[in-house]
Amino acid sequence: MSAIWDLRDFDGHEAVHFFHDSQTGLRAIIALHSTHLGPAAGGTRFWHYENRETAVTDALRLSRGMSFKNAMAGLPLGGGKAVILADRNRTKAAGMMAAFGRMVDSLGGRYVTAEDVGISTADMVEVSKQTKYVSGLPISDQGDAGGDPGPFTSMGVYLGIKAAVKHKLGRDSVEDVHVAVQGVGSVGGGVARLLAKDGARLSIADINREHANNLAKETGAAVVGLDEIMRLEADVFSPNALGAVLDKVSIAHLNVPIVAGAANNQLATPEDGQRIFDRGILFAPDYVINSGGIISVGLEYLGDGDVDEVNRRVAKIPERLIEIWQESDARQLPSAEVADNMAQTLLGR
Ligand code: NAD
Repeated sequence: MSAIWDLRDFDGHEAVHFFHDSQTGLRAIIALHSTHLGPAAGGTRFWHYENRETAVTDALRLSRGMSFKNAMAGLPLGGGKAVILADRNRTKAAGMMAAFGRMVDSLGGRYVTAEDVGISTADMVEVSKQTKYVSGLPISDQGDAGGDPGPFTSMGVYLGIKAAVKHKLGRDSVEDVHVAVQGVGSVGGGVARLLAKDGARLSIADINREHANNLAKETGAAVVGLDEIMRLEADVFSPNALGAVLDKVSIAHLNVPIVAGAANNQLATPEDGQRIFDRGILFAPDYVINSGGIISVGLEYLGDGDVDEVNRRVAKIPERLIEIWQESDARQLPSAEVADNMAQTLLGR
């Protein structure tokens, strides 16, 4: 029998908890990758997994990603993630979120949860009735940190794109810079609007045609096909939809000098970081450029600052990226590897 320690994605995780609630049928995994910098923080994913192994893999990978993201955002938080194993119809039985809240509470604050795929703010409100170790709750005062993390993530990505354009193309503004945006939902839509205000030229693609058409009307963007967006000749490709979009095949077809977007885990494998570097493309490591949302959620939980403080910290995302790119240039190492090394150092590993 292979144990959790033998799995490929096990990376010195401090603990992996398996929970079951007989009343609601809830099954959940909470993985704590690191509490070196503080309580392990990361959202809860509600997802139907084809088998248990993929759920475990997801929890292991996502919790490690959260350690890296929180560390690089300068937050006093470690990394963790919960996955709830949903049925095929993703039914949330009555009492399920409350049962999950009790599971979170049983860890005594070593894990702090928030929303992720399949989990709403209302679900987190249910969780918060059982535990105080929760974030991503509705805000009562507009000046408070917290609320929808999307706009903060968009702002970080927009600032990151501007920094990349300066670093790679030597241009001080994004006016007339052509950006190909894949996915124009909460984050991608926000990025496109901010770029449009600065006079950038936009091409956009989204499986939700209505999203794309509405945004095109608003920003003057050109709507292009789903297969076209990653091969377009442009200055920047900005992935804001799915993970793992950068693989051997897609990297070979990229026609841009810069890749910078919010999607989590953009590189399909670690080797793809080397591939993109070998093509001379400037890559913004996703967990650094997309950390605006976690900065907001993190400060909300820590009670450590208002929305102005969130904005101040989001404005520092480009500094971190520039540090990574400069080291990447100096040592001729992929930016993804440089970022991972920096994060590991912060995690005391
Ligand atoms: P969202 O669901 O609001 O938007 C995603 C958009 O991508 C949708 O409009 C969807 O139709 C589109 N899409 C899906 N598959 C596509 C495809 N194959 N081609 C083109 N478009 C496609 O999600 P979001 O909150 O904007 O998040 C976008 C990405 O950023 C995700 O990978 C998410 O994990 C990551 N992210 C989000 C945040 C945040 O604060 N919301 C923070 C960090 C990272």
